[in-house]
Amino acid sequence: MKQSEINPFELSDDNKRYQTYNYYLRRRFGKKVFKVSLNLGLGCPNRDGTKGFGGCIYCSEKLSGDFAGDPCDSIERQYEAVRASMENKWQGGCCIAYFQAGTNTYADCGFLEDAFKRALRLDGVVGLSIATRADCLDAQKADMLSRLATKTYLVVELGLQTVFDETAAVINRCHSYEDFIRGYSLLADRGINICVHLIDGLPGETGDMMIRSARQVGLLRPHAVKLHLLHVLKETKLYEMYKRGEVRPLELDEYVDIICRQLEVLPKETIIERITGDGRA
Ligand code: SF4
Repeated sequence: MKQSEINPFELSDDNKRYQTYNYYLRRRFGKKVFKVSLNLGLGCPNRDGTKGFGGCIYCSEKLSGDFAGDPCDSIERQYEAVRASMENKWQGGCCIAYFQAGTNTYADCGFLEDAFKRALRLDGVVGLSIATRADCLDAQKADMLSRLATKTYLVVELGLQTVFDETAAVINRCHSYEDFIRGYSLLADRGINICVHLIDGLPGETGDMMIRSARQVGLLRPHAVKLHLLHVLKETKLYEMYKRGEVRPLELDEYVDIICRQLEVLPKETIIERITGDGRA
C-alpha cells in the first residue's frame, strides 16, 4: 500500500500534518516547481528614511535577498544564472520568478508591471512571487497585481513577523499591525494570493506570543504562511544585540514545540511554505 493511501492528513502525500508548498505546487502544475530568486535592486523604505533608517534589525546587507541574482544584471541574466545553479538539484522542473530582495513594490507602477511581465516571458516560468511590505501597496499597485494574477499564478509575500506592535518597534519594523491589515486588505479584496511571513524568537517575545501571532494570521485565511526562526547574521544590528547578551536564540526543542503549536492553530488549507530558513553561511 502506498504511503499516501494510509496518510491520516488529506493534504499531504508524504505523511506531513500540514500542506507543504511542494505538495500544492505538484498538484497544481503536475511537476516539481522551484523558486528562482531575483533582485530588482529597489531598496527599502525602511532603509532610506522614507519609513525608517537602518532597516529591520535582522536584515542582511543584501536586504534579505542573499540567494537572489545580482541586481546589476538584467532580470533575464539573473534568471539564467540562478536557475542554472538550482537545476543541479532539481532537473526538469518549472519555476516561479521570485522577486525576493528588498521591497518589490517600492517603485513606479509602470516600471514594476514591465519587470513582472518580462519575468513571465522567461522560459519555464509558471508564476510570480513578489515580496514586499504591506505599507508599500496602494490601490493602483493592487489593481496592477490583480491584472497580472489573471494571467499567471501570482503570490504577494508580506513580511509581518509579529502581530505585536511593541515587538515591531524593537525590531525597527516601522509599520504597525494596522498598516499591515490595510495592505493585506488591498490584496485580499482583489482575490490576490498572499503569503504572510512570521519570525519566531524575536527579542522580548514569549512562545505564547508567537502562537498568538500565528492564530491571528490564521484568522485572515492567507493562501500561505512562512514560519522563520530568527537567526543572527553578522553585520546586522541584531548581531550587536546578541553580542551584548540582549537576544537569546531559541533552542531546537523550544522552536520545535512552538512550530508544532503554530501549525495547530493555522487553517489546514493554508500552505506552509517554510517552517525554518537558512542564512548564508
Ligand atoms: S522591510 Fe525587508 S528589506 Fe526592508 S529592512 Fe526590513 S527585512 Fe530588510
